[in-house]
Amino acid sequence: MRLFTLSLGLGAVLASIAVAAPAAAAPASDAANLRNTVGQSVCQVTTLNKWGIPVAYSTGFLLGDGRFVITDLGAVAQPGAALVQFQFIDGTKEDAWAFGFSDPALGLVALRVKTEAPSRAGLSLAPTLPPLETVGNVTAMGWRWGKQLDWVSGRLLRGPTIKEVAKRAQVETPSGVDAFLRMDGPRIETATGSPVIDSSGAVLAVRLDVEMRDAGLALAIPASSLRQSLLSAPPELKALAEVPKPLWPLPILRVKGEPPTLQEVLAGVQSLKQSLVCKLCGGKGKVGRLFHRGMANDEGNCILCQGAGIAVQDGFYPNLVVWAEQATRGAWAPALDDRARASMRSASQEILRSLATSNVQFRRMFGLAVFGEIVRSVPFPRGLVFFARVRDIVEGPDGRYFILDGKNPPWDAGQGPPKGPARRAAGEDVKRPGGRATRGAEAGTIAPLGPPDPAAVAGGDFTFAVRAEDMITTKGRKDPAQDSWIVMVGSLISYYKGDAYTGWAVLPLEWLPAPLPLTTKKP
Ligand SMILES: [Zn+2]
Repeated sequence: MRLFTLSLGLGAVLASIAVAAPAAAAPASDAANLRNTVGQSVCQVTTLNKWGIPVAYSTGFLLGDGRFVITDLGAVAQPGAALVQFQFIDGTKEDAWAFGFSDPALGLVALRVKTEAPSRAGLSLAPTLPPLETVGNVTAMGWRWGKQLDWVSGRLLRGPTIKEVAKRAQVETPSGVDAFLRMDGPRIETATGSPVIDSSGAVLAVRLDVEMRDAGLALAIPASSLRQSLLSAPPELKALAEVPKPLWPLPILRVKGEPPTLQEVLAGVQSLKQSLVCKLCGGKGKVGRLFHRGMANDEGNCILCQGAGIAVQDGFYPNLVVWAEQATRGAWAPALDDRARASMRSASQEILRSLATSNVQFRRMFGLAVFGEIVRSVPFPRGLVFFARVRDIVEGPDGRYFILDGKNPPWDAGQGPPKGPARRAAGEDVKRPGGRATRGAEAGTIAPLGPPDPAAVAGGDFTFAVRAEDMITTKGRKDPAQDSWIVMVGSLISYYKGDAYTGWAVLPLEWLPAPLPLTTKKP
């Protein structure tokens, strides 16, 4: 990767914090006013890997003259991080490929906004920490669940010592800071990196989520410590790949949006299982031919489900994907307790078990439903349940990836996918960069991704990429083997462009082996 040769110039960071932002300096009499002024500088932060897959969400804010965004180092220092995107309340987006400052002890990083001429001003850091007993109402502003700009009011108080937090987070005690601050009152979930501001709009502190035992405090780092650290930092821009490891473990937000409760996920499973039951035969698979002419085939099997007792009918699939999205969000919710997560996963196994043993008729109908879902242009994340063959296992930017082929199998052969020469003849062994996405002109950059080539998708040439590490396998269970078939529940979180494949990136919730059903005749 090419190193950034662009010189930052000693003044840049310093100017950033010294320049008072006109917008922020305006007196803000109430929360709505603050939203209109300060809110313009507070952005949602998405960290993406080299394949364009989002790996973490957080909150950040523009500093000073608007050339740098301050956010949680832990959300940026993800394995394989190649690009950070900012989204502002008015819908505008900015990118960052580089950072100008980072401090593992403070847990903060300053990312360089790519645009040369900043279009909006940022916030200024309070030079000193005011005596805490005199600080009345302060406002924290951040993106709740990575989705919605929100603000809360409270008081800023002295928090636990660094030593105390380090002990509870099970990390080494860093030097350089003495104590955290904390904010009482309500908090904005997952909005780590949010500025805590006074009534003039100056930043007093920066919220920092730390994963630790008995979490429950809204911790914050004093802005004066950040300012001091910024002023003493060597002035240089570095590529994101060089961002140092954060000291503080962060509960990572992987799916945007508020997670459901365990009860909601479990209730969904029951109604889905009921709607799966074949309406024609009531789940029996057989229909008495004597009284129900035309509803059974020669063998007495129900014509709708071909004897399976389950069918893709009456809005089952649309309901299933809505549930899958919520269940994925629920199971990946940061700081969720292990028992709730395990319950969500075993609930999804209940559904997958019914699907895994289904017959050819069912899997054909299901495949059509999946295809109908992915060709629609919908915002991410989007739930999906699909059958797929493990087409390849490749090394990705942040670990191994399973490349799953969602194409329907050649049922007519009745013996699973063709092997060896037949497969090569079908062009399947030829790795080629499909899709319309093109590589960025600069090394170390990634181009904005769009949907895969519609023609390729229509031709059945589409893949799903799933990071192996995310397929949290139950103890003792093996990863799926190459060429084996599985059924998976998860959510589409983005498009992706790998070295050899393109398609959709999936954050999985659960999967089961789903061998091809044998066919005795042409469906
Ligand atoms: Zn039936």
